Amino acid sequence: MSDPSPTPRRLIIVISGPGGVGKGTVVRHMLQRDDRLWLSRSWTTRTQRPGEPDDAYNFVSSQQFNAHINSGGFLEYAEFLDNYYGTPMPTAPDGLDVVLEIDVQGARQVAMKFPEALLIFMAPPSAAAQEERLRKRGDPEDNIARRLEKAASEAEAGLELGAHVVVNDDLGVCVAEVLAIIEQARANR
Ligand code: 5GP
Repeated sequence: MSDPSPTPRRLIIVISGPGGVGKGTVVRHMLQRDDRLWLSRSWTTRTQRPGEPDDAYNFVSSQQFNAHINSGGFLEYAEFLDNYYGTPMPTAPDGLDVVLEIDVQGARQVAMKFPEALLIFMAPPSAAAQEERLRKRGDPEDNIARRLEKAASEAEAGLELGAHVVVNDDLGVCVAEVLAIIEQARANR
């Protein structure tokens, strides 16, 4: 697969972590604070949650997703709890760093293709806090249990990948920590 970035010095920033850890909120704040970041919008076969913004994902059918796989349209994709999620080939304007908010399986694929990618793993302060967030955002009850179960193996996989680990306890602190990691990577590139 070719480098999605026309400018070789562009960062590929991968934010991963278990569902309910607050990745979406942290990423939204990062984008507000740093105008050199460009967020990739994933495709998913999952149905839209009540109240979830229309542009949270490109919500597609399994047929559409498979057709996109077959035409080589994804940078990475993975199955997560019975649904497919994938990152389309990035189309970020020149000069912007690409942000991918994806699961750890996707992070592993990106790390293999782009060893220089900046991997950041967000961990919840506790399982109870994660459960509360999942419930608040309206995940179905059976799904909450499965997502919590999955969280432990996701954390292990994140550590194995050598990702920077950031705990999302206080939102402001977490956003600042992630932005500082990105600034450091920019300084080093
Ligand atoms: P959710 O259903 O909670 O929106 O997402 C489930 C998991 O899929 C989350 O860990 C989320 O980060 C991940 N995810 C979202 N988009 C992508 C993607 O494009 N690729 C991969 N591999 N995972 C994704």
